[in-house]
Amino acid sequence: MTDGVSSSAGGTTHVVAIDGPAGTGKSSVSKLLAAKVGASYLDTGAMYRAVTLAVLDAGVALDDPAGIARVAAGVDIALVPDGDGAKVFLDGRDVSGPIRTEHVTSAVSAVSAVPEVRTKLVALQQQNAQGRFVVVEGRDIGTVVFPEADVKIFLTATPEARAERRHKQNLAGGRDSDYEAVLASVNRRDHLDSTRKVSPLRAADDATLVDTSDKTLDEVLDELSGLVETRIGAVER
Ligand code: C5P
Repeated sequence: MTDGVSSSAGGTTHVVAIDGPAGTGKSSVSKLLAAKVGASYLDTGAMYRAVTLAVLDAGVALDDPAGIARVAAGVDIALVPDGDGAKVFLDGRDVSGPIRTEHVTSAVSAVSAVPEVRTKLVALQQQNAQGRFVVVEGRDIGTVVFPEADVKIFLTATPEARAERRHKQNLAGGRDSDYEAVLASVNRRDHLDSTRKVSPLRAADDATLVDTSDKTLDEVLDELSGLVETRIGAVER
């Protein structure tokens, strides 16, 4: 058992950081892992998506970083646990559905590249984890948000495997989907996320890389819960 990230007024903070590009199975495995090890689940992508929705609703252009920063400064974002996942509230409105539309997905990389957006959301994420045992998924969790995380995992998979998963998720969710278009969108978003100036998507030097291309969700879950067990052990909470 480690000392954890930091001690707060409450309990000790324990963080399992799960980073990686879109379509690696990050969300599914993070939710299941949190439930399996008895931790809370924090989806940081949902926060960036909620700010993006606010930017689009406000009619601010994606090439106007000052306008984006202004919108971000004025919004209230809250994640409320709901079953194995969480509901996302933007200024008190449940936006859990609207933040998953293609309209938001195609705009989120531009919004999340704005430094003021990141500063605000990173602070919120750190605050949210204070004194708790959390599985946090995102792009910069092990590198920037929780560089002292107890466990750092970086999920990878081939672009084709990732696009295939997203395509199936879309169809299962009753959304129109075209595999080639999904592949192009996944590649475009990864390129933008990994080449941006602030907190680009990259594996922390001390992260464990897990390639999920040819693994089932259960296999990945077993591997990750094994790592949590070894590094954190039985966490008192
Ligand atoms: O994980 P998800 O696909 O919901 O993330 C949406 C987007 O939010 C990513 O493509 C990325 O641009 C941004 N993001 C980020 N940093 C995080 C989490 C998500 O920049 N920690």
